[in-house]
Amino acid sequence: MDPSETGLLDMCSSMLPACSPSSADVRVKRAFHRMLPVAFAFAACGATANERCELSKVANAGVLFQSGQHAFLLDAPFRDGVAPYETPEPEQRQRLETAQPPYRGLSAILITHWHDDHFDAQAVTAHLRHDPAAMLVSSEEVVAQVRAAGAEDRQLLALTPPQGESVSTVIGGVRVHAIRLRHNPARRTPEQHLGFLVEGCQVIFHAGDANPDASNFSALRGLSPIDVALLPYWYLDGAANRDFVAEAIAPARIFAVHVPQAERAGVAQALRSVPRAALLPASRAAVKLRPYSDGAPR
Ligand SMILES: [Zn+2]
Repeated sequence: MDPSETGLLDMCSSMLPACSPSSADVRVKRAFHRMLPVAFAFAACGATANERCELSKVANAGVLFQSGQHAFLLDAPFRDGVAPYETPEPEQRQRLETAQPPYRGLSAILITHWHDDHFDAQAVTAHLRHDPAAMLVSSEEVVAQVRAAGAEDRQLLALTPPQGESVSTVIGGVRVHAIRLRHNPARRTPEQHLGFLVEGCQVIFHAGDANPDASNFSALRGLSPIDVALLPYWYLDGAANRDFVAEAIAPARIFAVHVPQAERAGVAQALRSVPRAALLPASRAAVKLRPYSDGAPR
């Protein structure tokens, strides 16, 4: 791992527990979030101080979120990808598709959209076959592809709210919000694109390839404040983009994803000057999101 990527491996959390906050709580916490020093984030329900609370990169925008007993795979597995973005290494791809550790016993696979650098229907179907308690949660477009690839209906959950709105479900005791966000302009733009907010041991937000404009994220205002946002690295390129992130997403911490392999060192260096942000470390270097039992940093 690039040493420049290691500075943010341990993250802290919470002075304010966030179990099912009221809307008033949310407003107070959002305001408080902006005042937090770099080292603090909020913990939510789902894991105790002794349970795992970790993020680890799969490839490109693919991330594994371990929240206590529950694990969520976001925007993975996939196969061919889109150059110049990373794809899973062959051995990792095998683990993903045969549900070997650390990808065994997932609560859910969450897919933002069907682009090849985020999703592959055959790969997801293979995983579901080897991981019979895991669910796929995604848009109707993605779910239809996985159903056509042979997955069982009982493992498929389509959530496709209207543009700019969100819906939620509870998987393994963890609330997952699917937020309909417009994809950025692309040669083949998916009609259905989701962001996910997962209220586990910390509140994690994955933006997929959402278009980075404030109006696209208005649905976040009614949801829990975000502890950790996983954002394409171009969201942090330039002051105007960073202002948009602070205002419209307002995360306590940010990990940049979707970085071409050849640009990782340069992006890691550039992010050193961006408060509360870093590149998500290379695969298998889990970022520990440490919950605090006594409300004090350690
Ligand atoms: Zn895309």
